[in-house]
Amino acid sequence: MSDQPAVVREGPLAEIVVDVAAIRHNVRVLRELVGVPLIAVVKADGYGHGMVEAARAARDGGAEWLATATVDEALTLRASGYAGPLLCWLMLPGVDLERPLLEGIDVTAYSVAGIDVTAYSVAELDAIAAAAEAVGRRARVQLKVDTGLSRGGAPRSTWADLFARARAGEREGSWKVTGLWSHFACSDEPDHPANDRQERAFLAAVALAADSGLEPGLLHLANSAAAVLRPSSRFGAVRCGIAVYGLDPAPGRTPDLGLVPAMTVRTRLALVKELAPGDGVSYGHRWVADRPTTVGLVPVGYGDGIPRHAFHPGGSAEVAVGGKRRPIRGSVCMDQVMVDLGGDTAAIGDEVVLFGSGPGVPTAQDWAEACGTINYEIVTRIGGRMTRTYVDSEADR
Ligand SMILES: *Cc1c(COP(=O)(O)O)cnc(C)c1O
Repeated sequence: MSDQPAVVREGPLAEIVVDVAAIRHNVRVLRELVGVPLIAVVKADGYGHGMVEAARAARDGGAEWLATATVDEALTLRASGYAGPLLCWLMLPGVDLERPLLEGIDVTAYSVAGIDVTAYSVAELDAIAAAAEAVGRRARVQLKVDTGLSRGGAPRSTWADLFARARAGEREGSWKVTGLWSHFACSDEPDHPANDRQERAFLAAVALAADSGLEPGLLHLANSAAAVLRPSSRFGAVRCGIAVYGLDPAPGRTPDLGLVPAMTVRTRLALVKELAPGDGVSYGHRWVADRPTTVGLVPVGYGDGIPRHAFHPGGSAEVAVGGKRRPIRGSVCMDQVMVDLGGDTAAIGDEVVLFGSGPGVPTAQDWAEACGTINYEIVTRIGGRMTRTYVDSEADR
């Protein structure tokens, strides 16, 4: 007999469970509310929910468009069989622009001729023109103007040149300009003066584009928060990400729309032990028991995307064990965290829900508040060694 113990796989360390019915539901709610086409944003692996599955659910819920940040993400969606309208907006220097132009599957409803790429500058338009010529195909180009975010997009001083180059390229047959768009800086603060300024700047860009002889088909400005809170910003379409996944785009300011968080993260207790007063917990003994208690070991850590800020001197995130909220105690380690069971008994193997939806379960928003961040970061960074599984709560009913 060998000394080697057999490798036993007892199933996943922890599971990210994504309810595709929640995504469908959220898209239906948003689409109904805004009354214009919805561009579902599925970048960064669908905000951690799985890009291809999230995209399918969003389409099933009525999203007319999908959008990603990078060209690679858009190509992955095409490779998954998605043939509908698709926008991407983050070109890296030297990115192969020929592939997105070629990855076109004509579908009758939209006669999509490829992936819509976004140009911020004349130099990018020049590169797209070269790619279009090389593949012998007209590109679909959307123009992004910077109206005050000071991130991607053409700065105002360059709009006239950008639009002139875009019009010339259209005449030469390099592309069709299919959209003009911009992005808000402060849409989660509806009263912030930047919102009005950006919307006025966007209207100025639209007017200048028209003066330049362009007829961009689709005008879009709003992300989730603006789509919900600022009807004047809806224009021809809205780009919704976080709300599609059921999280609040403007916590404390969004009316109750009945959005349902699609992601639940769960695992099991790996160990339960008793502590005496004075026992320090985890690295640095940053938490010391001041009374007898029980603690449980949760086998996930920052290696799995649990923010180390989930425990800090100012507070801690909570998990649900046996339907009760239990705070994290002591430093979050790479592979594990300890939670305070308050003297209650619990068994190894008892279910631990880190966050999700439903009664008694902490939300990603709760985690964001405990960690001093936003719900976007909580769901997008989670992963590591966890497995992702999909359920459909409407089909199971
Ligand atoms: C991520 C992103 C969105 C989606 O924003 P949400 O706040 O998640 O709705 C929209 N537009 C752009 C340009 C983005 O980068």
